[in-house]
Amino acid sequence: MDLQEFRAGLDAWLAGHEPELRAESGPGAGLDEEMRHLSKVKRMAYDAGWMRWGWPERVGGFGGTTLMRAYLGEALAARDLIEPGIYSMTEVLAPTMIEYARPELAAETVPRLLRGDETWCQGFSEPGTGSNLGSLACRARRDGGVWRVTGQKVWTSLAQYAHRCVLLTRTGTPESGSRGITAMLADMDAPGITVRPIRAMHGRDEFCEVFFDDVRVPVDRTLGEVDGGWGVAMDLLPYERSTSLWHRGAYLRQRLGHLLATAPDGAFDPAELGEAVQAAFAFHARSRETQHRMARGERLGPETSVDKVLLATTEQAVYDLVAGAVPADIALGDGADGDRWRTEFLYSRAATIYGGSAEIQRDIIARRLLGLEGGR
Ligand SMILES: Cc1cc2nc3c(=O)[nH]c(=O)nc-3n(C[C@H](O)[C@H](O)[C@H](O)COP(=O)(O)OP(=O)(O)OC[C@H]3O[C@@H](n4cnc5c(N)ncnc54)[C@H](O)[C@@H]3O)c2cc1C
Repeated sequence: MDLQEFRAGLDAWLAGHEPELRAESGPGAGLDEEMRHLSKVKRMAYDAGWMRWGWPERVGGFGGTTLMRAYLGEALAARDLIEPGIYSMTEVLAPTMIEYARPELAAETVPRLLRGDETWCQGFSEPGTGSNLGSLACRARRDGGVWRVTGQKVWTSLAQYAHRCVLLTRTGTPESGSRGITAMLADMDAPGITVRPIRAMHGRDEFCEVFFDDVRVPVDRTLGEVDGGWGVAMDLLPYERSTSLWHRGAYLRQRLGHLLATAPDGAFDPAELGEAVQAAFAFHARSRETQHRMARGERLGPETSVDKVLLATTEQAVYDLVAGAVPADIALGDGADGDRWRTEFLYSRAATIYGGSAEIQRDIIARRLLGLEGGR
């Protein structure tokens, strides 16, 4: 199937199944309900074949261009059938598994993620480690055929729902920095793992603290080389800033369209409206190029930091516009859409933090793309 046939077939399928794919309880029903609904959408899309296109056959896919995956998430977000933050975790984690896991492990686990039978999480950040990821301390010690993991992760999105975790651990000495890190796939029901959800300011327990107390992870769950986890992480982060952002961009355009259609007359400052629209189009143009580079098989790298800066700028410009247009909805959360605008406005503040903060992205752009070395 080529991309054109895929798009036409998917659009027709979505039109025929939209009532079933729409969340019964509507947007803003809470994270438990959203996760249940997401699994249903992924299962339906997988069983109908759409979720399998764009993924390699060795992990249950049908092959084809990665642009199919970009279009599927875009089409679902544009129809308001998914929330891209939770949908696109697959785009962040599955490519890494395909590249770095044993082929049998990837073949066994990735189809379950694609079909929505499993949720996975990303265990990178720690209480003392965010932007300075190379200093992480969660320790893994080799003991025969297992790694024994002890330490803590934090801000781990969806960990309370997750069956597996793509985990970064310290296997070298504490001073080994980025050279002593090993990546592995841990089962979240392994003895010794404790998950404590954290309530964020938008009222959702979207992320968690995760504690590891002598947790055993089989050595054949190692991703990439022992002490080579830094390379795994550096390859994963550009994925976090490519197709998943494309999906988020589609969602933001849909929400902007909804705002323009429903806000009272004269609700917008024309300059702010112009800025939000311009930011959305700038991101769209940039991310489109990234999707095509990925489809051509080019390796994504630090240039995806530009996509992340543009996406975060768009997200905050759109919700600043919302705040100006429907201020009572934001302040009180009881507008026609319930508290959805308020929840989304508050969450938009995180756009300059998750996936690497805006300052760190600009630092990467300055040093690695523009060659402005500065002090480091
Ligand atoms: C909604 C959300 C979901 C997340 N989900 C996950 C997840 O699933 N898994 C996961 O592992 N992590 C996750 N994170 C964590 C995220 O990756 C980190 O918050 C982020 O990398 C920043 O790290 P930090 O919070 O430790 O802040 P810090 O690194 O302590 O930074 C604090 C401030 O200092 C600035 N700063 C730091 N160093 C520099 C520097 N060298 N130059 C200039 N400024 C600097 C930063 O830009 C920031 O403004 C999530 C975060 C959010 C908000």
